[in-house]
Amino acid sequence: MLLENTSKIFKKISYAAMRVGREPEDIKLVAVTKTIGVNTIYEAIEIGLRIFGENRVQESQKKIQDLKLKTQNSNIEWHLIGYLQKNKVKYAVQLFDLIHTVDSIELAEEINKHAEKIDKIQRILVQVKLSEEETKHGISEDKLIQLLYKIRELKNLSLEGLMTMPPFFDNPESARPYFKRLREIRNECEKIGFHLPELSMGMSGDFEIAIEEGATMVRIGTAIFGERG
Ligand SMILES: *Cc1c(COP(=O)(O)O)cnc(C)c1O
Repeated sequence: MLLENTSKIFKKISYAAMRVGREPEDIKLVAVTKTIGVNTIYEAIEIGLRIFGENRVQESQKKIQDLKLKTQNSNIEWHLIGYLQKNKVKYAVQLFDLIHTVDSIELAEEINKHAEKIDKIQRILVQVKLSEEETKHGISEDKLIQLLYKIRELKNLSLEGLMTMPPFFDNPESARPYFKRLREIRNECEKIGFHLPELSMGMSGDFEIAIEEGATMVRIGTAIFGERG
């Protein structure tokens, strides 16, 4: 099942990329493993998945430790894709290769501080909020540039791009303007000197559209592992 689902997704990623003249290799699949057990994640590693996304620091801590014991594979990356509370930053910096959800100066400073302590350059993305939905985290467009300039001063952060999460729509086409907007914002930021190659956008329901609009990382859970219990 896992293999079948995953190969379907890789195929869809390839076709979506080809439709818009992009290289399929430029799109990374982040397998979202929130609520998924260690044994299933291990299976996913065995069939070739290498990047895993978790949304809670606490839940992921034991899973990541267990898997590090279980597999000798050292090419595995763990990404934090969920909201990061300040009091969890210390652990997040120990656990995650890439944090997708930096959305304030305070959080960036806290991550920088803990990264410095363990002599790590922490890779991050800035999460941008493009809709007015109250429940969504992310920095608003008008405050983004200020945050990027601040991050540039923080020596233990490596800013690699932007992330967004559109509101939920039944029709995935409705998410397209949000993906397009994130790409435009990225391009505007690059014009003033920021290098932001990564765009983390697209989930199980809308990743093909996100790829058509420039996603370099798609975060997919349900379409790989089935509905979460
Ligand atoms: C759960 C989650 C996903 C994956 O959602 P699916 O619809 O299961 O693919 C992607 N991004 C974030 C931030 C999530 O929390």
